[in-house]
Amino acid sequence: MRVVRYRYKDRGGYGLLDGQDVRSLKGDLFGEFREGQRVASLDDVVLLAPVSPKKIVAVGLNYRDHAEEVGAEIPEEPLIFLKPSTAVIGPGESIRYPEMASRVDYEGELGVVIGREARDVTSAQAGAYILGYVCFNDVTARDLQKKDQQWTRAKGFDTFAPLGPWIETGLDPRHLKLETFLNGELKQSSNTDNLIFDCYELVGFISQIMTLMPGDVIATGTPSGIGPMSVGDQVDVVIEGIGTLTNYVTAVE
Ligand code: MG
Repeated sequence: MRVVRYRYKDRGGYGLLDGQDVRSLKGDLFGEFREGQRVASLDDVVLLAPVSPKKIVAVGLNYRDHAEEVGAEIPEEPLIFLKPSTAVIGPGESIRYPEMASRVDYEGELGVVIGREARDVTSAQAGAYILGYVCFNDVTARDLQKKDQQWTRAKGFDTFAPLGPWIETGLDPRHLKLETFLNGELKQSSNTDNLIFDCYELVGFISQIMTLMPGDVIATGTPSGIGPMSVGDQVDVVIEGIGTLTNYVTAVE
């Protein structure tokens, strides 16, 4: 099932995709819900970020190919950091290139959307706490990341957490092709079976530290092939079984 959040004329809310039609979602996204009446065609609605997380927990260095690329050892436990909820943008929206940065990178990632409050759950239980999956772009001011050591500024600018285009539920996250394109050119190509810590291990690990709330997002890390973007660029994160998240890079007005 594909859960969208849409705006159509003077209406909006959560919806479910039925082929090329958007239907309203009746009930509670994080509880019981069902398909309601047809709203409009997918082409006629504006898709918004499909979820508004209270927090985004991101994982550094979680692909074997990326660890090799940067010459790092395979970590023994996940390296986590937070991105602010105010960084979220939806499909088609613009990543604003900050004036204080001189190198801004894409990082295509699989995002996990939490469906139920999770505290101290095991990896084996984790699946029951996951609502679904999104494409995620962990946009990073690489120069500031190196300069600061702490990653909050480099990863936390407004618009630095594009996610979408919808939440795909009922997906096995373990063997999915993940690709990132810059202006149509393939830059990252990997598979989630290269993850050092898979989605279930991450939910288990993080829930030992902080309570994961419904709607929270885990950005599971990026594979090899990271690189810079420029004002005017189009960036697409494409994940098998989910779809394509497209965003544009613009200057700050
Ligand atoms: Mg990342």
